[in-house]
Amino acid sequence: MKVTEHIKKAKGETLFSFEIIPPVKGRSIQELYDNIDPLMEFNPPFIDVTTSREEYVYIDRDGLLDKKLTRMRPGTLGICASITHKYNVDTVPHVLCGGFTKEETEYLLVDCHYLGIDNVMALRGDAMKEEKYFEPTRGGHRFASDLVKQVKGLNKGNYLHEVIETDNCPDFCIGVAGYPEKHMEAPSLKSDIKRLKEKIALGADYVVTQMFFDNQKYFEFVDAAREAGIEVPIIPGIKPIAVKRHLHLLPQVFRVDIPEDLIDAVENCKTNKDVRQVGIEWCIQQSQELKEAGVPVLHYYSMGKSDNIKAIAKEVF
Ligand code: FAD
Repeated sequence: MKVTEHIKKAKGETLFSFEIIPPVKGRSIQELYDNIDPLMEFNPPFIDVTTSREEYVYIDRDGLLDKKLTRMRPGTLGICASITHKYNVDTVPHVLCGGFTKEETEYLLVDCHYLGIDNVMALRGDAMKEEKYFEPTRGGHRFASDLVKQVKGLNKGNYLHEVIETDNCPDFCIGVAGYPEKHMEAPSLKSDIKRLKEKIALGADYVVTQMFFDNQKYFEFVDAAREAGIEVPIIPGIKPIAVKRHLHLLPQVFRVDIPEDLIDAVENCKTNKDVRQVGIEWCIQQSQELKEAGVPVLHYYSMGKSDNIKAIAKEVF
């Protein structure tokens, strides 16, 4: 079922969902199940599965370093299929521009359709680790909006090299990313919202936000998006701080601000166990306020560990 249908069916009640990351190549999927199992009691109608783009690794061959391109966390679609099969829940694979040609994207979407997947999250992806700026893959898309256009086209039978008239077209519901504190490359929040509106105009059905730690940023973003004419659901994505290092890492990677009170509370912690508890408590407060404000879904970035998400969900749902 589509994410937008789940939201409609909930009739204003806030739903619980979360995002998972495929394990590093060679690790067991059981680890993933062990982290999903405790969250299933909160009835997520859908689970997002991220996609990681390729990166360079250096292999030592008798003292000479061989540079190879590899994907460290493959398996997004396989994980989607296995989760749907095991838990009978909808999954949302993240589909990227970076690292994929348009043809590869088409084949991926065909696989999604065969697997009965109804939703995809259309994203540009970040620059490769060794690059400063995002460079489109040769034969791939430059912006998420181009990807939205491709998915939307496929919904009408418009494959890359032919139009196929059939009653077996996919009907993907398309999610896109939104940034309450603006995307790091956008010249202003206003221009970023204009770009977001383009993704919606091309056919995106809902938005999931980047993490934020101050709800006011989300509320103001939603107001600005509505003022710009964006009417689709805007799902807040939130994440509990879990280790002291997050105070520097999260702003650096995701360009988000951390409120002073939260910084103070984390800095006063003696151990990472205390930090985890501070993160849980902050996230409970954030979740409760967002729920009271009537957000359609609370979407948690689990980063592979679920004990803190469970502690939050227990208080909120
Ligand atoms: P876009 O919408 O293409 O925007 C990128 C930048 O280009 C923005 O600054 C925008 O303002 C600008 N822009 C857009 N269109 C135009 C245009 N026509 N002309 C000029 N400028 C334009 N990354 C992963 O690698 N894997 C994941 O699974 C993943 N999941 C994510 C899930 C969520 C909910 C979010 C919020 C992010 C996720 N990301 C993921 C990160 C994402 O790929 C990066 O933030 C990336 O840098 C931007 O992706 P986007 O889809 O927002 O890009």
